[in-house]
Amino acid sequence: MVYFLDELESKNLLKSLRPKARQVGVTEELRGWNWDTSPLKPYHDVSLPMYLICAGYCPTSRDVYLSKVKGMKGEYTHPVTMGVIIHDTVGQAFREAKLKKFDADFSSWYESMDYEKRLSGNFEEIRRCAKMVWNFILSAAKARFESCLVTQPYGSPEELILTTIPFLVEHRISGRLLGTSGMLSVDCFDYMRNIIFDLKVGFKGDRYRCRIYPTGYALVFESVYEVPVDIGCNVFINFKGERMIVEKDLFHINDDLRSWWIEERDNKAEIVYEEKDPGIPPSCPDDCIYRSVCGE
Ligand code: SF4
Repeated sequence: MVYFLDELESKNLLKSLRPKARQVGVTEELRGWNWDTSPLKPYHDVSLPMYLICAGYCPTSRDVYLSKVKGMKGEYTHPVTMGVIIHDTVGQAFREAKLKKFDADFSSWYESMDYEKRLSGNFEEIRRCAKMVWNFILSAAKARFESCLVTQPYGSPEELILTTIPFLVEHRISGRLLGTSGMLSVDCFDYMRNIIFDLKVGFKGDRYRCRIYPTGYALVFESVYEVPVDIGCNVFINFKGERMIVEKDLFHINDDLRSWWIEERDNKAEIVYEEKDPGIPPSCPDDCIYRSVCGE
């Protein structure tokens, strides 16, 4: 249920993942609060957006060079626009739910965002998908809240909202200590279960690779708040006809993932610091936002 865990996911978290994470642990030097010592300390005075550090679609990382050295913006393709609008929809639906506005109107919010003037894509399809997401989140949140009203008669409405929808959604946080942007937006942090979530819309590639995103955000959380964040979760949203499909990948943010994120950050920061063009690979993904620039 987007960021709500279902029964099987909760069992997996409590009986398998969390105990394993406790047993394996995390090496102290790979905790975000050690941002001022190697290997977390950035080599170069360069700050990169999280998506550029983590994105793996360009085989040579030329996207980093084009964006940060040449200052070029990519084109808004249909999948990019779909991703932007679905992310916004999720964020707004949770904001409405936290205000107990479970019947909030999707159309008036969507129109107020002026997407169709600013972005490009097949808006008929995007609007239909976004409405599905909106309705799904608000009805799931309402069901949770009402079920708690019945089972917890002594909890105040504020307390019940904070515990039934325990999510910081689109949480703004600075990644400066780790060489990332000063204004990051974390898709979701579940403060009751201590899980970092990242949302992927229409993603068809290597799901393991996506684990690097929550890993980066967990390191940033640790650097700012100095609390351990050991569990990450990618939420994959896809649409099939009139149906929305939600799948999750819950995992331990272990030493390997942390080291991998640091390596990606350092390699990409070097491209920017040295202003070196890494060149064009033999083949490029069809949906790369820089295809018209690279001519591939
Ligand atoms: S078009 Fe190819 S080389 Fe250029 S940024 Fe995209 S993937 Fe990289």
